[in-house]
Amino acid sequence: GREVWKQVFQELMQEVKPWHTWTLKLDKDLLPNILKPGWVQYQQWTFARFQCSSCSRSWASAQIQVLFHMHWSKGESKGQVKMRVFAQRCQKCYQPPFEVPQFTQENISRILNNLVLRILKKCYREGFKLVEVIPTIKDISLKGPHDSDNCEACLQGFCAQGLLQATNLPTSWSPRANTSYQVETRIPFSPSGEDSYSYPSQNPMHRKFSISCYCCFIFIVVVVIVIIITI
Ligand SMILES: [Zn+2]
Ligand SMILES: [Zn+2]
Repeated sequence: GREVWKQVFQELMQEVKPWHTWTLKLDKDLLPNILKPGWVQYQQWTFARFQCSSCSRSWASAQIQVLFHMHWSKGESKGQVKMRVFAQRCQKCYQPPFEVPQFTQENISRILNNLVLRILKKCYREGFKLVEVIPTIKDISLKGPHDSDNCEACLQGFCAQGLLQATNLPTSWSPRANTSYQVETRIPFSPSGEDSYSYPSQNPMHRKFSISCYCCFIFIVVVVIVIIITI
């Protein structure tokens, strides 16, 4: 659980800032867009699995918000990160408890790698101008809409905000938003494939035929005129 996040974060920070002390704390009461002065925010929408503690049913979601607030104190060479992972609850149970998602080690690394890049950019003013976000790996394909009624972030009004932001961002976010995927696949299908085939478009064919006929006719006329002239 918590210790893995802290440990991986320490390892990654040690690689880039070995002389600086950074701490990561989990804070269940952290709220998006409410920041103390000097703090910066970073949100990621990630994939993970959940398991219900009452019926042990499991499910996956690609719309799990991971929220970070970061603060860097230059004078003390100390940095702080507060982190909150938004929970979800079981769809089938009556009054189920909110469950904390279970991330794979690989996805924990990816999420924290993104965080470290953001720290370098926001707190140290270092790094590339365009920091590319590494998306979390989805090990199954998800069908159906996001279960907003059982998503903690949605119920508190923070999930829809994220979606809006995510759709405004360039390509790096696209795999996360299931909806945009469906729209994207639907567009190329109908105009190119089906329409031109199912209607054996007689008009353009006919036009082609008549154009070549017309050319033949003109050619024959020209040939006949030439023959008449030469005779
Ligand atoms: Zn359940
Ligand atoms: Zn939600």
